[in-house]
Amino acid sequence: MKSPNEINIIKMKNISKIYDNGAVALDKVDISIKRGEFVFIVGTSGAGKSTFIKLLLREILPTSGLLLVNGYDINKMPRHEIPYLRRSLGVIFQDYRLLPNKTVYENVAFAMRVIESPRRLVLRSVNSVLDVVGLRAKYKCFPSQLSGGEQQRVAIARAIVNNPSLIIADEPTGNLDPETSWEIMDIFQRINAAGTTIVMATHDKTIVDTMQKRVLAIENGCIVRDEASGGYGYEA
Ligand code: ADP
Repeated sequence: MKSPNEINIIKMKNISKIYDNGAVALDKVDISIKRGEFVFIVGTSGAGKSTFIKLLLREILPTSGLLLVNGYDINKMPRHEIPYLRRSLGVIFQDYRLLPNKTVYENVAFAMRVIESPRRLVLRSVNSVLDVVGLRAKYKCFPSQLSGGEQQRVAIARAIVNNPSLIIADEPTGNLDPETSWEIMDIFQRINAAGTTIVMATHDKTIVDTMQKRVLAIENGCIVRDEASGGYGYEA
């Protein structure tokens, strides 16, 4: 069912999502995202960004249309393949979602333990991703002992530890000050430069305008703009 060599890591063909109450959150969306791209998803509140992201994670199913994520056909994939899809994705949220009673090390290691990675591989990989995000020295800390930016860096380490080909970030800088946001974006840039595809929903006009990456703008469930190296396009 999975064909990892596809050029498009995400393909939406005529994708619509209509919630039970009749709200049309996405309306016949056609887009494709190639492996290695860095894509910002922008749009006002209620535009359909979260719906877009939940579909990619298969948290919800489309009402109609074709959706391929990392080679998986979201509509047709059998239930037992869902964990494999999720493992091929790294997900980062605005509110970090760390386990409060686990240390930095354990938070990251947990993502590997659930897939039963050998102990030595866990040690090596966790140390390596903590180096990537610059937090190796704080491996024994609990989330409550870290700043917001540090917590988000742990979340990034956790998202990349299983080498996903696609990172999906939903407002990852939404709770951070501008300077810390740029530290997070620097890490994303490096991860992307190493070949990982990044799809990031954001309201941060400065970041989108400065980075000049591909921008998909959603309004009322429709893609109204798709620019190769665009700006935010709205007033902040
Ligand atoms: P955004 O993330 O851009 O703010 P959403 O994808 O959350 O937008 O919402 C798009 C539209 O779908 C909005 O009109 C919203 O009210 C509606 N919507 C979102 N989630 C649900 C839901 N679970 N049930 C019904 N309507 C929903």
